[in-house]
Order: sequence, then C-alpha cells, then structure tokens
Amino acid sequence: MRGLTADYQLTLPAILRRAESHFGYREIVTRLPDKSFHRYTYADMVRRTKKLAVALGGLGLEKSDRVATLAWNSYQHLEAYFGIPCSGVVLHTINPRLSPDDLAYIFDHAEDKILLIDETMLQLLDSFKDEVNLEHIFVISSDGSVPDSAPDGLESYEDLLESADESEFEYPDFDENDAAAMCYTSGTTGRPKGVTYSHRCICLHSMAAATPDMLGLRERDTVMPVVPMFHVNAWGLPFTAAMTGARQVMPGPHLDPESLLENLAQERVTVTAGVPTIFFGILRKLDEDPDAYDLSNLHDMIIGGSAAPESMIRAFKERHDLNVLHAWGMTETTPLGTVCNLTSEKEELSEDEKYQVRATQGVPGPFIEVRARGDEGFAAWDGESMGELEVRGPWVTGAYYKDEDPDKFTDDGWFKTGDIASISPGGYVEIQDRTKDLIKSGGEWISSVTLENDLMAHDAVAEAAVIAIPSEKWQERPLGVVVLEDGKDVTEEDLMSHLAEKHPKWSLPDAIEFVDEIPRTAAGKFLKRALREQFKDYTPTA
Ligand code: ADP
Repeated sequence: MRGLTADYQLTLPAILRRAESHFGYREIVTRLPDKSFHRYTYADMVRRTKKLAVALGGLGLEKSDRVATLAWNSYQHLEAYFGIPCSGVVLHTINPRLSPDDLAYIFDHAEDKILLIDETMLQLLDSFKDEVNLEHIFVISSDGSVPDSAPDGLESYEDLLESADESEFEYPDFDENDAAAMCYTSGTTGRPKGVTYSHRCICLHSMAAATPDMLGLRERDTVMPVVPMFHVNAWGLPFTAAMTGARQVMPGPHLDPESLLENLAQERVTVTAGVPTIFFGILRKLDEDPDAYDLSNLHDMIIGGSAAPESMIRAFKERHDLNVLHAWGMTETTPLGTVCNLTSEKEELSEDEKYQVRATQGVPGPFIEVRARGDEGFAAWDGESMGELEVRGPWVTGAYYKDEDPDKFTDDGWFKTGDIASISPGGYVEIQDRTKDLIKSGGEWISSVTLENDLMAHDAVAEAAVIAIPSEKWQERPLGVVVLEDGKDVTEEDLMSHLAEKHPKWSLPDAIEFVDEIPRTAAGKFLKRALREQFKDYTPTA
C-alpha cells in the first residue's frame, strides 16, 4: 500500500508564499556601499521578487537557463535568490574573488545567459567580459542607475523591475527535483566544479537547518549572514530565514570587523555566520575594546568553512560571553553537514572537555549520514581511527554538473569529501585534515589542522598554517608558517616547546617560518597550495 499523503512539491515558490502570507511585517536591513542602512519588509521583498520573476520571464529564457549573480549580501541579491528560481531558471551565484581565468571558465561552463552585477564589482567585467556570452548584464546600484564608468550596453536592475507588473506573477508549480540554484566549488583543489541544487534539496536543507540541534532559527531571530551569498548560498541562511520569518541583516560590501560589530550591536542580531578569518578580526576588535559594543542579543556565532580553533571558541566565551557554533559543510552538501551542539550525554564533562568537543565539527544533521573510509575498511567510531569522510543525504550532491569527476562518488552512492576525519561514539565528526593537506611522514599521518590550532592557541600568534615540505628521508615533513599578532614577539624555540606540550616529538614541524600574511582562497581560507609552492625548495636553516 502506498501512503496517500498529498503529493506536495517542496519548492522555493512555497517558501516565498509563506514569507508573503505570514511575515510581511518582518524587516530586511542592508548596509549599502555608502554605509547607510536600507530597510524594507518581506512584503516589499516579495513584491519586487515577483517583478523580477515576471521581468525575467519576458527575456526569452528557456526553462533551466542560468542567470548569474556577482553581488554582495543585499536585499537585491535576496530578490534574485527567489526571483530567479521562481521564474523557472537557475540562480547561479558566482564568487567575485576568483581569478579572471576561473571566472571566464565558470561563465562558459555554466553557459550563463544573464548576469546581475553589483556596481561595486563592475571593474571585474573588464577581465572576462569579452570571453563570455551574456545576453544581458543588469547593474544593481544604490540609486538605480548604471554608473557612467560602466562599459557600454549594461542595463539597470531597477529599470528591469520597473518594466514588470507583479500582478502578472503566478506562483508556479515546479517539479521539486528541478534545479533551483547552482554554485561552483571555489577551486581550492583544482578547476572549479559545478554543483546544482534542486528545489527539494534547498527546502529540506532549510527545514533541517532550522531544527534546534542544527542552527535553531526562529521567527524572532535576527540573522546576519556574513558568509557571502556567493559562497554556497550563504550557507542557506537567506532561504532558512525566509522560511522561518527571521529578520535579516545584510552586511553589503562591508566585511571589516568594525562595520560588522556595528551591525551586530545596532541591529540586535541574534545569529551570525562566517568563516574563522572574519571572527579572528572580530575577536581582536572586541579584545581591544570589550565594552564598545552591546552584543547581549547575540546567542550564536556559526563558524565554519575551515576549522574554528578551540582557542577561539574559548576566547569568545571566556572573554566576551559569546557562543560559537562550529559547523562543517561543503559546496557539495548545500552546505550544512554537521553542527556542534553538545548532546545531553556531554553535560557531565568538565568545562575543558566541553571545549574540546565544541572544537569538533559536531553531529550530522537529520538525514545526513557519515562514515570514514580508512586503508583497511571503515574506521571505527572511536574518536581516533581516521579515514576519508564519506557522506550521503537528501542535500548531498549525487553528481557534478556535466558529470565531471565521477570518481568522487562511491558505487553505493556516497560522496567522497576529500576530508580526513575521525568519528567519536555518538557520531561527533572531527576533521583532521584535507586529504591533500595531510602530512605523510615516514608512514605516519600528521594532521596539519591540529598543529595549526595549537599554534594559534599561543597568544603571540595571529594566524598559522602548517604544510608538508618534501623530505628525502621521511617523504614529507611539516613546516609551520606563522603570522604574529601586532606588537607581539615569540621565538621559534618557544613555539616548538609550546607545541611539544601536546604533540609527540616526531610530529612537530621541522621549522617555523614567520611571514606577514598567509595567502587566502576566494572564500577566505588559507591557500595552502600557494604556500606549498612558495616553500617547495625549503630546507630548514637550523
Ligand atoms: P573549497 O572546497 O573550494 O574550499 P568549500 O567551501 O566547498 O570550497 O569547502 C569545503 C571544505 O572546507 C571541506 O571539505 C573542509 O575541508 C573545509 N571545511 C568546511 N568547514 C570546516 C570546518 N568546520 N572545519 C574544518 N574544515 C572545514
């Protein structure tokens, strides 16, 4: 017997309709390029989103054509998040920090027909415009006009909306498995690869994200995604917030700690999210002047994208009474995979042990399954055995766009993450490294992440990356690359003794190099590929 539940399709139009019916009064706040605040409500957002969908419908696009965005987090980008998929085409968010070469590659590969671009990003066009085939480019600007400095032929986003009548919008019925959005991996490990998200995948991801043991979003929350909307759907927060009716604060192009702290305090943000680099900056600013900002409303700072060091989680709590929620995910997992909320059995642990658990990546969300594949079968969930993390679930990609890299999928339908993890009893996942960053020294594995986190726990160290350098004898050995805190000093020997408190001698770096900065990926993560290249002929002087 089949269940006779109604065949209701899980689609983004249903989330938009919910926002319209129930949350019209809720506010969406955007920090504009001139730093002033733009405010409107979900009712306004839905009206303009309908206009966008109607206007796109008039441009001769075919079903599932791609419409790209190059934009910061803003109300117009939110309109694109819903208006593009609600007109039957695919929202393709593009990361402006990619190289011109990768940008041209992505436009070409995705065959984008239309681009919506922020006025603040127009200079990027020069580097790839002639190599791509766009039918229309619409400029999103604060005053609605196309700046004089823009190349010829660009059109205004506001004029596009003006040309449409929202009363012509009808909520469409899509198949929930149709693509709603797509995003390319940021290419840390090679050419970017396209990941497509179905309507169903985004709806289920939003529902799971809202559950209390994941992000726990509610109508009464005010959410500020610092993670950019061009980076894996800003971790799905704009969708989850619209579904729950949470108020949204969009930081626009201003990602400096001071502007972010102003937003958090003035707009009484309750939940924010971003990569560790952003929060290192915020922590430094708060340490300088702990009483400058009233953050009493902020109950969760979701940190992910790379490991949130235990020292950072501790510093936020102990010095500023702020709670870090550590999360792990990937472009391929929409992106939420695991979130670290302490389960009841951890209540008995000491404070120190709780911090150690909080620094793990946490427990998989509902319907997400994990396993770690070691050299000799699946690793036991003992918190020590390591293997490559494999995942499956309703918002884990089943293939890359145009079927690239099929080897990333197992025969039984799991996605191979390329992350090396151990799993503790109860399913707490701890990411030890990325496969390619793991240091293989004389048959032993050394986790670069653990060394980095312990280096960053030293109060003179602002940032640290540990990479493998070639070794004739051991095959690879670790090298520490460290940026010092402003005005602080420490010697290599001091850092080595600091590490030796926790790490066996054979796993300590062969040397520590002090640098002014660590190169970063487009998403703000350490670009270890560049460091490995920089230090490929390195031999320690000592
Ligand atoms: P890219 O693969 O190009 O860096 P993604 O944003 O998809 O782009 O990155 C996903 C990867 O980021 C994961 O495979 C993992 O290595 C890393 N990552 C994400 N969150 C965490 C976390 N909380 N701790 C450690 N690593 C993380």
